[in-house]
Amino acid sequence: MPPELIRFRRDDPGYEAARRACAFNARLPDRFPDIIVQARTQAEAAGAVRLARAEGWKVGVRSGGHSWAVSHLRDGGMLLDVSRLNAVEIDAAGLSARAGPGCKGHELNDELARHKLLFPVGHCQGVALGGYLLQGGFGWNSRVLGNACENVTAIDYVDAEGQIRHASATENSDMYWAARGAGPGFFGVITRYHLKLTRRPRVIGAQVAFYPVSALEALARWAHAVGPTVPRSIELMMLLSRDTPLVKGPGITVVAPVFADSLREAWRDLAFMKTLPAGAAMKLPFLPTSVAAMTRQVMEHYPTGYNYAVDNMWTGASVEDLLPGLRRIAQTLPAAPSHMLWMNWAPPATRPDMAYSLDDQTYIALYGVWNQDADAPAASRWAMDNMTAMTPLATGVQLADENLGARPAKFVADANLARLDALRAEHDPEGRFHPWMGRP
Ligand SMILES: Cc1cc2nc3c(=O)[nH]c(=O)nc-3n(C[C@H](O)[C@H](O)[C@H](O)COP(=O)(O)OP(=O)(O)OC[C@H]3O[C@@H](n4cnc5c(N)ncnc54)[C@H](O)[C@@H]3O)c2cc1C
Repeated sequence: MPPELIRFRRDDPGYEAARRACAFNARLPDRFPDIIVQARTQAEAAGAVRLARAEGWKVGVRSGGHSWAVSHLRDGGMLLDVSRLNAVEIDAAGLSARAGPGCKGHELNDELARHKLLFPVGHCQGVALGGYLLQGGFGWNSRVLGNACENVTAIDYVDAEGQIRHASATENSDMYWAARGAGPGFFGVITRYHLKLTRRPRVIGAQVAFYPVSALEALARWAHAVGPTVPRSIELMMLLSRDTPLVKGPGITVVAPVFADSLREAWRDLAFMKTLPAGAAMKLPFLPTSVAAMTRQVMEHYPTGYNYAVDNMWTGASVEDLLPGLRRIAQTLPAAPSHMLWMNWAPPATRPDMAYSLDDQTYIALYGVWNQDADAPAASRWAMDNMTAMTPLATGVQLADENLGARPAKFVADANLARLDALRAEHDPEGRFHPWMGRP
């Protein structure tokens, strides 16, 4: 074994601490790799894969550990932690950046804000680029900039033989295609992303309204009616929670974050918010803020140290068809911070040819969240039970909030899954890298 590698075998002191520290979700599965390796450099990541090859180990890769399902933690084999590969280099004039997979989205955003540049990083703190970009990446201003993975111009990666390679549209293009959407089923170790940046819009902010839960049906009808016409500069979302500010109980927060070049443009794009249904506990005016501040606000719904059980669906179903399921979700909603996120994605954009290939008009994600044992029975089943009940209305699932190990579901177009399987057989014939959970 190369002596320089930081590694923990199952009997070593430090193994359990390293295993526990590898996940954001406090609900750590009872899965135990034979060895945990923490790479500090690209060369060490490559050395680790060669070691796994020599020992006949499968490899699970971890960047930020924010997979809800903790998909990087598998039984046996190697857990390769590349979170220390987190350097960022920004070429402001060239509107490009190179970032390690361990770089957190909010850290990249802070750096870019200094240069008045933007990349569609995720809405939360702590999510690393490693897993986020592989699965698609739903980030700030993604309705304009596309999924974050559409802004990846190239990758550096370690292949199944432990060799460092580069992939782009013109070099190893199959791997570049796969790296934009394969998510936790990618067959390589990303060691660096090459990113396209854009100029940061001058006005960033949000308009918010709070409703009691009795407004659920009226809001759902309204949101489905206005959704397809909402300007792309706005990500319209609704959040259902038992603890809604200013409602002091179960309610719905309607959030419309805006990216515009002037206040006038922001107000123009927000005109549809004037048609919100009656019955709000409070409607706030548009408030200019920053991506960092909005990210901090979002984190109130995703506290650290809690257990999470998450599931989701894309749907193009009519609001009348969805309402029975939405009512059941509200009736069975566990205590906060458990919540439902409804997001307008209508009309879905045309995408470049890449593995990511499945979305629809509306996104619904359920987050069961608890930190008391007494809450576990309700909160741990809520997301999956409700998504199972609504399966006939689903087009598929988003890998961001995947629960494939417990509930297999479609996550890319059929042709793309067939191509991913063929590429895996070609590029990883010995099955060095774990596939998606719930799939052989
Ligand atoms: C609090 C929270 C908020 C979130 N918010 C958003 C959001 O706003 N938008 C969004 O799109 N998603 C969001 N997600 C989902 C998140 O983007 C995915 O779970 C993503 O996979 C996390 O990336 P990671 O590197 O932190 O996770 P990890 O758990 O480290 O990785 C997840 C999987 O990706 C693969 N992987 C990771 N790194 C590499 C690598 N270097 N090379 C090869 N494979 C690798 C592995 O298969 C691993 O199992 C959120 C998750 C959490 C917990």
